[in-house]
Amino acid sequence: MTASEAPAVEIRGLAKHYGPVRALDGVDLTVEHGSVFGFVGPNGAGKTTTLRVLLGLARADAGSVRVFGGEPGAMRRRIGFLPDVPGYYSWMRADEFLRFAGSLFSLDSDTLEARVRALLDMSGLGGVNTRIGGYSRGMRQRLGIAQALINAPDLLLLDEPTSALDPIGRKDVLDMIAELRGRTTVLFSTHILGDVERVCDHVAVLDHGRIRAVGPLDEVVSRHAGAQRVVVQLDGDAGDLAERLAGETWVETITRALPTASNGGDLVEIATDDIPRARRRLPVLVAELGAGLVRFEVRQPSLEDVFVSLVTAEPDPGRAERRPAESEGNGR
Ligand code: ATP
Repeated sequence: MTASEAPAVEIRGLAKHYGPVRALDGVDLTVEHGSVFGFVGPNGAGKTTTLRVLLGLARADAGSVRVFGGEPGAMRRRIGFLPDVPGYYSWMRADEFLRFAGSLFSLDSDTLEARVRALLDMSGLGGVNTRIGGYSRGMRQRLGIAQALINAPDLLLLDEPTSALDPIGRKDVLDMIAELRGRTTVLFSTHILGDVERVCDHVAVLDHGRIRAVGPLDEVVSRHAGAQRVVVQLDGDAGDLAERLAGETWVETITRALPTASNGGDLVEIATDDIPRARRRLPVLVAELGAGLVRFEVRQPSLEDVFVSLVTAEPDPGRAERRPAESEGNGR
């Protein structure tokens, strides 16, 4: 296999300790060319450490890392990177900053000018004359991605590119990432699962330095989401229903949603593999309680279901299985 046919990223058995902390504990990960790959995990899972090893900025204790079939250090010119806390020269304008970033790659002046123009256009910063110091966070992130693309990389690594952004800023950044699909392989870390569902075709879930699930997004969701979900809404308090459901053998878990302006409260979400039984049994229970059934809905599993089942699966005295649990539901 030649270097150009090799996967964009191939990680095998990667391990790294920081003193007693096992940051990476045998990570295996393959990112194929052209994919937009979401690397998700809770705080401290090891996402940044993995990206740092991929960039040749951190040394692993064990395992192997290949970028386009070669050593990460040797492939550095084919990689673009946006760190989680990027640094900027606040007195520069966007075009000046991009020229400065490009100068680090010894591009000829025509190529550099063409790329600066194209990237200003792509990031929506073309007509902006404000200095970077006056930018919103969203504008800074868009400039950060533009800067990471100045060397026309084949692989773009982004460390939590949307975590501090408002919804408009997030949308703009996600649109930029989506525009790269098929042209540049993108690997971005995040704990915002909705972002992955919006733009990624592949996903890996990392927790405590281990990959818990990896593959095409729809396959990961269908394989790991666990039981199906039924959302039930009553016309009154759902506490009694939750109590009754706790005694039903076909019910795996019950989650109650706290009232919000949109759901009006009274929502119960049930995980079960027996939907036909749920259809028959729930109306009976609701009638026995003298309540009215406002909604009965079988919900599609989501990446959040995968994340919750894989990442919080360890024994935790604070979590109760098969008992009504209260969460800040949003009435999904
Ligand atoms: P976050 O979402 O919070 O950025 P992360 O998934 O990127 O988290 P890492 O930053 O890779 O996780 O950290 C993984 C583990 O390694 C954590 O327990 C962290 O405290 C530890 N760690 C990371 N860098 C260092 C360091 N330089 N020195 C000591 N411990 C470190």
